[in-house]
Amino acid sequence: MKIRIIVDPDLCIGAASCVTIAPETFALNDENKADVLDHGQAPDGPSYEREVEVTEDEFEKIIMGAQSCPTLAIAIIDEAGNQLYPEA
Ligand code: SF4
Repeated sequence: MKIRIIVDPDLCIGAASCVTIAPETFALNDENKADVLDHGQAPDGPSYEREVEVTEDEFEKIIMGAQSCPTLAIAIIDEAGNQLYPEA
């Protein structure tokens, strides 16, 4: 499945729980904010938003990472544009 992962840098406080849970998807940058990775890579440079093809297991991990964020800085959108997390 394909999902869009978005980190709001204004909300991110660098708590890094997303990085601990899903290190292939989130990494802290120089500003102590979480960049979004594609399987550990940032092909077109650092970004707070990225579309990623993931397996069911990877998806679960990414959702858990998003749920662990104390400031709800991470949003997950599906291919149809529906927000999967945080639930509306
Ligand atoms: S868990 Fe939230 S606040 Fe912490 S680094 Fe990740 S996005 Fe930022």
